[in-house]
Amino acid sequence: MSKKQRKTLIRILSSAALLVVFHFLPIEDLHRVFQVLIYLIPYLIVGYDVVLGAFKKIKSGDFLDEEFLMMIATIGAMAIGDYPEATAVMLFYQLGELFQSIAVGKSRKSIAAMMDICPDEAIVLRDGKEEVVDPSEVKVGETVLVKPGEKVPIDGIVVSGSSTLNTAALTGESLPVDVSAGSKIYSGSINLTSAIQVMTTTAYENSTVARILELVENSTDKKARSEKFITRFAHYYTPIVVILAVLIVAGCALFTDMGIAKSIYRGLIFLVVSCPCALVVSVPLSFFGGIGAASRRGILVKGSNYLEALADIDTVVFDKTGTITRGSFAVDAVHPNEIDADILIDIAALAESRSHHPVAESIVAAHGKHIDSSRLGDVEELSGRGLRAVIDNMNYYVGNGKLMEEIHADFHECHLPGTVVHVARDTSSGSEYLGHIVINDELKPDSKDAIADLRRAGVKEVVMLTGDNENVAKKVASEVGIDTYFAGLLPAHKVDKLEGLLGENRHVAFVGDGINDAPVLTRADVGIAMGALGSDAAIEAADVVLMDDRLPKIAEAVRIARKTLRIVKENIIFSLLVKVAVMVLGALGIVGMRFAVFGDVGVLILAILNSVRAMRVPKK
Ligand code: ADP
Ligand code: MG
Repeated sequence: MSKKQRKTLIRILSSAALLVVFHFLPIEDLHRVFQVLIYLIPYLIVGYDVVLGAFKKIKSGDFLDEEFLMMIATIGAMAIGDYPEATAVMLFYQLGELFQSIAVGKSRKSIAAMMDICPDEAIVLRDGKEEVVDPSEVKVGETVLVKPGEKVPIDGIVVSGSSTLNTAALTGESLPVDVSAGSKIYSGSINLTSAIQVMTTTAYENSTVARILELVENSTDKKARSEKFITRFAHYYTPIVVILAVLIVAGCALFTDMGIAKSIYRGLIFLVVSCPCALVVSVPLSFFGGIGAASRRGILVKGSNYLEALADIDTVVFDKTGTITRGSFAVDAVHPNEIDADILIDIAALAESRSHHPVAESIVAAHGKHIDSSRLGDVEELSGRGLRAVIDNMNYYVGNGKLMEEIHADFHECHLPGTVVHVARDTSSGSEYLGHIVINDELKPDSKDAIADLRRAGVKEVVMLTGDNENVAKKVASEVGIDTYFAGLLPAHKVDKLEGLLGENRHVAFVGDGINDAPVLTRADVGIAMGALGSDAAIEAADVVLMDDRLPKIAEAVRIARKTLRIVKENIIFSLLVKVAVMVLGALGIVGMRFAVFGDVGVLILAILNSVRAMRVPKK
């Protein structure tokens, strides 16, 4: 409990104690003025801030909120001589507020716990000496020392030492990961066993930690439709309720023999009951809880609106390379055309050395030798096809069959299964075909299960889009159990296919690694990015980021979203039903003020407890 919450609790308890004491004293025998003065003490102890808040808002003009309702209701109760009532009403209201702030604090804390990945300092090795600096002062390419028990401050590559890292804060997976020289590691992981030296590969601002923090800070800004519904609702609701209350007062005073004081009292009860705080509080709280639950599983949802969209998803579209497959190809064959195989690989690796496409990285890795980048001139990525590179002042093309057709190279497809990387160059007499390299990718081990699980979670159709050739696409699709696939697509065609699906009124999630599918990620109802631990484009364009690239997290995200939305709906229906019932009873004079407020706080507490359930990750 925070200091402020403890203070509120003390105020509530002391005010309640005074009420009990007053109950046994003969206060009723005193003059009215003294009665008011005496009861004002517990009333102000518990409610002074509400009254002040209401007055402040009256000055600013936009005052039709719950504090205002509470103030006129309780002052009204005082005016008609119901002194203990007025204090009791304020008491219940503050109790509800206290509950709310504790619940919100709890869910903030659970996100903060997951966010407790922020390194406070970094130890840099400069001129052989250890210097302790702020992580933001470390430059790219410097070596930092990470001692056991400390957080990795910046993304980088291990240069010496080996250790075990806990990446749970990033990925939600509790299994530690072994790293040694050459391993890529991410800021926010915790070094468990022994000291390692890490060469930084990014600046702190672009490191995983900084990006996650930024994401989460922004995530609660984007409001879900149901939250907007509440705001809009309150806007119309409050004036309507005030008008109804006036009508009730007028109706009772004119058409019954209740007298003016009782009529006003009836109207006031109606006002107090009408306060929609259960809704206003519990809906955002549920979304907050859902986002928290997801982040604890390494699923970052960038806003409650995306959680809402996820719950409705019926179609999931996958990119192939790097998403369903690992994106690390092994070279199966090199088929040169009248040149040396080594030279062919050399050229391909040199051309690919600046690209971050999985095909490129694999070819560079397979080549394995030193790359003499002084031979390399301009490189132009031709997305979905390959690239054009100037090597030794000559124009080379490296890419798929589509690219070869474009440059009218005299190429042929390979009889071997796999992704074929063709190489050609410009000569004075047109394109000269130099041969091709056949590479193959592996499925991620859990792709097949993840897709089956998505179907179990209620997703109706799973589709695969790829820029790769038909043979590879067909094989991968059948191996993981996807029935609809489209091959040979350029990035723009992927957007067209997705729009086709959206046009059929489907709710579509697209899952990609962000490498030349950023437009598709943006266009889908929910863009889910793999490779959060790598590609900036993905993190930017996506609505949901899977920190550990594991596909089973998608079904999990859908389950969390559905559960959250179910809780939101339960709360809306439940509190509106109770509200309307109590309002009718209050207007008819069947229930009094105390019951009304008690009912209200009761609903609020139940709704809050219900929303807290959203923080727990649902089981399968
Ligand atoms: P996917 O849809 O499977 O993720 P992309 O759209 O990224 O694939 O690329 C489609 C195809 O374009 C690849 O299968 C490959 O044949 C070719 N390609 C793309 N980039 C490169 C590159 N840098 N080098 C060689 N070929 C490439
Ligand atoms: Mg791709």
